[in-house]
Amino acid sequence: MTLTQNLVPDSKYSIKCPYSMSPTRVVIHNTANDASAENEVAYMTNNDAQVSFHYAVDDIEAIQAILETRNAWHAGDGNGRGNRQGVAIEICYSRSGGPRFEQAEKNAAELTASILARYGWGLEQVTKHQDYSGKNCPHRTLALGWPRFLDMVKQALYAIKSDTTMDMHLPEGQVYTVKLTSYKKPAFTAGNGAVLKTRFGKQQGWDWYFQIKAIGPPGAGCGVYANGERLFAVTIT
Ligand SMILES: [Zn+2]
Repeated sequence: MTLTQNLVPDSKYSIKCPYSMSPTRVVIHNTANDASAENEVAYMTNNDAQVSFHYAVDDIEAIQAILETRNAWHAGDGNGRGNRQGVAIEICYSRSGGPRFEQAEKNAAELTASILARYGWGLEQVTKHQDYSGKNCPHRTLALGWPRFLDMVKQALYAIKSDTTMDMHLPEGQVYTVKLTSYKKPAFTAGNGAVLKTRFGKQQGWDWYFQIKAIGPPGAGCGVYANGERLFAVTIT
């Protein structure tokens, strides 16, 4: 999924996003339409209705139309917390559903996870249009199961990619750096600490660098773990 910006012009701010905003939540919507993210953003930007959203997400891309520091009109709660504190995400292709919608939903879960990570929010900050006005939105996401969507967000939030997955041998005294990619800083551990010493190095974007130093005697070995999941094993030589 790519994320691009196609922001509403300043001349439309008074209609689409008149207030500055300190967001406190994400508000999930379904478009109830069969148009792409590009077309949803174009339609929203070009009309003069007080209807707007921050992001539209389809099966290929997410497009940001309004900055998260401006409000949007989407939650049907007037000047309530949905419209005035919510980052609105529209999930495309919900009218007919099918594979395009399912992929769009996955992409929306990924986008939501990245927003939660940026603000340090948890799943309780993921809300739905229905919470604010009772409208049956996000209609298809609700029909398929809201807890299921929250679970997708959670999966995306805690997924960890490691640049090292193969078991290895390390000479005594040697240091090796592991790069983990994750929205949240992973808990990085190695056995009981007698064979490998671990140290957090640095964060660069969503990349977290950890060092392991071989301190155990030759022949000793142990597993290396991120959030309790085994990544690889090391044998000291
Ligand atoms: Zn909605």
